[in-house]
Amino acid sequence: MSGAPICIVGAGPAGASAALKLAYYGISCVLIDKATFPRDKVCGDAISGKVTTLLNRLDPTIIQRFEGEPIKVPIWGIQFFAPNGVPMEIPFVPLPGTDLPGAPGYVSKRLDFDHFMIKEIARCAAVQLRLGVAVTGYERTALGWRVSLASGEVLDTPLLLVADGAHSHFSRHIAGLPMDKKHHAGAVRAYYRGVQGMDSRGFIELHFLKELTPGYFWIFPLPDGQANVGLGMRSDYIARRRVNLRKAFDEVIRHHPVLSKRFVQAERLSAVQGYGLPLGSGRYRISGDHYMLLGDAAHLVDPLTGEGIGNGFYSGFIAADQTKACLEANKFSADFMRAYDLRIDRVLGGELRLSYQMQRLARYPFLVNIIARIIHRNQGVVDAISRMYTDFEYRKQLINPFFWLRQMWK
Ligand SMILES: Cc1cc2nc3c(=O)[nH]c(=O)nc-3n(C[C@H](O)[C@H](O)[C@H](O)COP(=O)(O)OP(=O)(O)OC[C@H]3O[C@@H](n4cnc5c(N)ncnc54)[C@H](O)[C@@H]3O)c2cc1C
Repeated sequence: MSGAPICIVGAGPAGASAALKLAYYGISCVLIDKATFPRDKVCGDAISGKVTTLLNRLDPTIIQRFEGEPIKVPIWGIQFFAPNGVPMEIPFVPLPGTDLPGAPGYVSKRLDFDHFMIKEIARCAAVQLRLGVAVTGYERTALGWRVSLASGEVLDTPLLLVADGAHSHFSRHIAGLPMDKKHHAGAVRAYYRGVQGMDSRGFIELHFLKELTPGYFWIFPLPDGQANVGLGMRSDYIARRRVNLRKAFDEVIRHHPVLSKRFVQAERLSAVQGYGLPLGSGRYRISGDHYMLLGDAAHLVDPLTGEGIGNGFYSGFIAADQTKACLEANKFSADFMRAYDLRIDRVLGGELRLSYQMQRLARYPFLVNIIARIIHRNQGVVDAISRMYTDFEYRKQLINPFFWLRQMWK
């Protein structure tokens, strides 16, 4: 095998986490991104416990440094609002044994969080950072891939980790993952200051609005009294109902009977920007000869919540494990790489399928209203759902009608 380093394209959560774990194994890699950091990425900026748990397992000093950064607000739970406005409050319960020093989740602008990750990577001698240079082409060679850069350079690698996000050229045109509107969402977001009625306990807000189901409107708190505000919806519904997301977003802010009042004194700090979310509800092959797809390039966004950072991290860590196995066995064939697909499915597949089933239920506003009423008046259900947030086996009950029927008579 050649001594050429492993090549990671994209230094967002998926590529950055892969680089960190490869460095932990002492495996040399080049991490390429067309952006220089800090850089913005259109996102809700909510960072789940998956991220902090994985980083803490890799190296607790990373989490200690993150804890010391003034770039985030801690998150202790979620407030869901049903289409009829009834709130459901779900506090987070950390999994026993996770041993995290801080909160179960955070909201941190991607401008800051991704920059924090880059600074962590810069501490790792095994990672060569190539920022501000785009990858412009890929060519299959006898030993792997030849990657062309906008600078005119070419890099040969035995193994390519493709983490260049939702609009990945490699994923779509070389690996052949389709853009299927049923398994894709569109979302817009803007930053605000001065939104009234923000939750003082550090709960994020998701509003299921009748006319916009199965999508939702969100308000997430940020440092300095700012908020990340957005709206997302599955792409087939956007197309079928001819929804203009920016207009729908504006409509909520200006005219929604309850929410608009909270924005009367708010100042918008950024443009309303949109981006795609490739949902993990379709099933595709995400590796092949000498390559693996990671994060959004592998379509791993949670179909219910839109969470993609945590799953990006999982794919980065698993891809690093698979890279180690490839180098040890000196095998890079699509057949050998199948272990990556299987492990992603084992770790994330069940959760993604369950979220897809729940997303499909959320199409029916009356059902969400009934569930909200049950939760609203029953502390026992709140406790059960809090546990479900981190306990996947327990969460399966959410799509069991008997679970809800039992709660109605409690
Ligand atoms: C509006 C919106 C709200 C969201 N809210 C949340 C949320 O609150 N929480 C959550 O967990 N997830 C959320 N998501 C999903 C989340 O943003 C993504 O799942 C996550 O960013 C995926 O990480 P990634 O590393 O795969 O890709 P990205 O973060 O997109 O990173 C890809 C990187 O590749 C680089 N790149 C692209 N092309 C090239 C090239 N040719 N050459 C070199 N580099 C290249 C880019 O510059 C970028 O840095 C949201 C998404 C949207 C659109």
